Amino acid sequence: MQQEQFRESKELSSLSVMNFEISDEQKLILDVVDEACKKIRPIEDKCYLERKFNDRVLPIFKEAHLLGLPISRKYGDGQGADALTYALALERIGQEGTGVRTFLSGHTSLGQLTLQKWGSEEQKEQYLPKTTRGEIIMAFGLTESTAGSDPASLKTSFEPSGNYFHLNGSKAWISNGSIADLHVVFAYPKGKSEGMCAFLVEKSSEGLEASAIKDKLGLPTSDTGLLYFSDCKVPKENMLGPPGKGLSVAYSALMSGRLSVAAGCVGVIEDCLKETLSYAQQRVQHKKKIGKHQLVQRELAKISVDLETSKLLTYKAALLKSKSDIKPEDAELRNDADWMIAQAKYYAANASFRAADRAVQVFGANGFSFENRPARHLVDTRVCRIYEGTDQILEQKIAVKLLGNEYEAFS
Ligand SMILES: Cc1cc2nc3c(=O)[nH]c(=O)nc-3n(C[C@H](O)[C@H](O)[C@H](O)COP(=O)(O)OP(=O)(O)OC[C@H]3O[C@@H](n4cnc5c(N)ncnc54)[C@H](O)[C@@H]3O)c2cc1C
Repeated sequence: MQQEQFRESKELSSLSVMNFEISDEQKLILDVVDEACKKIRPIEDKCYLERKFNDRVLPIFKEAHLLGLPISRKYGDGQGADALTYALALERIGQEGTGVRTFLSGHTSLGQLTLQKWGSEEQKEQYLPKTTRGEIIMAFGLTESTAGSDPASLKTSFEPSGNYFHLNGSKAWISNGSIADLHVVFAYPKGKSEGMCAFLVEKSSEGLEASAIKDKLGLPTSDTGLLYFSDCKVPKENMLGPPGKGLSVAYSALMSGRLSVAAGCVGVIEDCLKETLSYAQQRVQHKKKIGKHQLVQRELAKISVDLETSKLLTYKAALLKSKSDIKPEDAELRNDADWMIAQAKYYAANASFRAADRAVQVFGANGFSFENRPARHLVDTRVCRIYEGTDQILEQKIAVKLLGNEYEAFS
């Protein structure tokens, strides 16, 4: 019966539905992103060597209308891009370095998208237009010095006081932490270790102090901050999402955040390949361009395969995320997207580190200098195996989906 149906079906040559084409509209957006990136590069080069925060990234992205790319057009300069289109933009931005891309991950993927998904209409009207116009920058404060992979163990607390909540505690390693104007912050009711809530906390709130972390291994041009809350006054209407649903808010943010890391890592691999190809065609040793040495060719081949694999995983994850964003009520689709995003982030983060290491190797001693891009990628992309879920946390997450929830590693 099945065989008959199969023989009667339409021409087999028209069965495929996978599509790897980039549409004309996407090309248009990517041209704008490319132009902004070209403006950023010389400034980023200079800042990197001076180990200085790059304060031109914000105005350049703002001028290019890229500060609310996946945010609805209802809100200021939001452009309404779907998850795949936004990922393609982050891929291009990732070529400029993990620091530049991390700024957008903190502001848009973790900050704005979380506010858009969980905020009340009043909260969105109040803050989102300003965030898309670059008038206020966002950050996402989940991690604490004693709560990283296990955010449920965080210690920051809140208690009601008149029309406000008072927050007490601290947050560590927060991207954009010391420059942001608006933070998404997570805390438990005072004296409790359940019922976590999320809050929108303005930089100017009484009782909030922020400082930048210095002496980082990488990312010298982007901000990573510490936040301290000392009876920090947050208006009651600034609770984000339903009371007690803080962990759901955090986990949904991590889906967008991880996808942004995967896309940025694809960009890092692209840049490593570009740099390595060009170097291999110029550098001469043993009277030959080093690209003619087969062992150097192997490095190029391995970077290329890692690039193509990371792209496929990331695009598939982004497509699933786009579908899930359209049907948020479909829990199965969301779980599939979450799982695919975890795989894309895990693979691309490791592949980008390998690609940077290979690029350094092909550059030889010149690869050991921050004057050249491979060295910067090597130290900067390392964090992608740590933030938004370490390698180990993602490995377990990926495996548990295959084994079933009774194998949950963290219970
Ligand atoms: C530059 C930078 C930017 C960051 N930006 C942000 C941000 O914007 N917002 C934010 O909230 N956080 C941010 N983070 C924090 C980041 O998300 C955490 O560092 C990460 O979740 C890991 O937590 P941890 O560093 O406390 O390591 P830990 O959780 O202490 O882990 C230490 C080691 O133990 C392993 N481990 C832990 N638990 C398990 C387990 N159950 N099974 C197996 N192995 C385990 C880990 O994989 C790791 O190797 C940032 C970090 C950095 C470095």
